[in-house]
Amino acid sequence: MKYGRTFNFSAGPAMMPEPVLEEIREELLNYRGSGMSVMEMSHRSAVFQKIVDEAEQDLRELMGIPEKYKVLFIQGGATLQFSMIPMNLMKNGKAVYIETGAWSKKAIAEAKKVGEVTVISSKDKNYTYIPDCSDLDIPEDTDYVYICENETIHGTTWQKLPNTKGKVLVSDQSSMFLSKPCNVSDYGLIYAGVQKNVGPAGMVVAIIREDLIRDDLDNLPVYLQYKTHADAGSMYNTPNCWAIYCCGKVFRYLKSIGGLEAINKLNEEKAKVMYDFLDQSRMFRGTVDKEVRSLMNVPFVTESKELDAEVVAATKAAGYDNLKGHKSVGGLRASIYNAMPKEGVEALVAFLKKFEAEHS
Ligand SMILES: *Cc1c(COP(=O)(O)O)cnc(C)c1O
Repeated sequence: MKYGRTFNFSAGPAMMPEPVLEEIREELLNYRGSGMSVMEMSHRSAVFQKIVDEAEQDLRELMGIPEKYKVLFIQGGATLQFSMIPMNLMKNGKAVYIETGAWSKKAIAEAKKVGEVTVISSKDKNYTYIPDCSDLDIPEDTDYVYICENETIHGTTWQKLPNTKGKVLVSDQSSMFLSKPCNVSDYGLIYAGVQKNVGPAGMVVAIIREDLIRDDLDNLPVYLQYKTHADAGSMYNTPNCWAIYCCGKVFRYLKSIGGLEAINKLNEEKAKVMYDFLDQSRMFRGTVDKEVRSLMNVPFVTESKELDAEVVAATKAAGYDNLKGHKSVGGLRASIYNAMPKEGVEALVAFLKKFEAEHS
């Protein structure tokens, strides 16, 4: 790693691609002859409008987003979407939520403030699996089915989307956004807080089918209506200009390295290095069902809390940062998002192997 940078295994905010950071550095004080930094630029300027337009266009190309979907850049992170989704999409006041971990649990709590929520959960086994959703009992007047497609904390991911029986599918893709090809037409709404897999914190990308954007919500605060953001091209007020700019760079970078197919291949290789190690280790083991293991967040444990803590301290001292597991799962967690180089994962595994050999 250059510049004394560390392999950062944080669940978010997380690593960004080094070539992108270098480009940002180049443009930091004077963006392409504009005489100012993007940080100092009016969001109403032609220069910035071009940055937004290109970011959206590149994302559309990357994901193959159909024309009938709007791409919105909204502030408030993924968390605000927990509220905006039920407020905007619950026409009949009903939704089905699949609870597969901490993030869907939070989304459910917010949705319950707005309407009636049917919950299907994997809580009985501490969210180590994804419930079978091939034949759900979905009431006729359900407005949508909600999933968290990759549970950042528990480390599970959906291999096959739920059968929504024709209802709108809403997905929180925060910790897997742009990690693999995505068929946008399968969804009514996809959203992602960008600080996990794309850029700096403080923004969400929402991809919403146009017919779901309502204009009969006058009683809802204007900022909480998707219509407001859609009508204003994500610039009803000052947007998170910096995040839009950085994310745009990452979209372009992903295109340049071969798009989502290419990054998916790399992510599979990286995850395989991690899981192959865990599967043969006598000291460490993964915590979730093999079929639904995440390519992005890999939680694992030893036999004791004391040893877990010892490993975390040793990895940190060796230059592998942020491996402490979330408090609800314990143990360790390696988040290996798009920007984590394969060498980072290989180096971590080599270190863990050595640790295991020296401590058994
Ligand atoms: C991190 C995360 C969130 C919350 O994101 P914020 O931008 O901090 O609000 C929501 N969902 C998932 C799956 C996450 O990983």
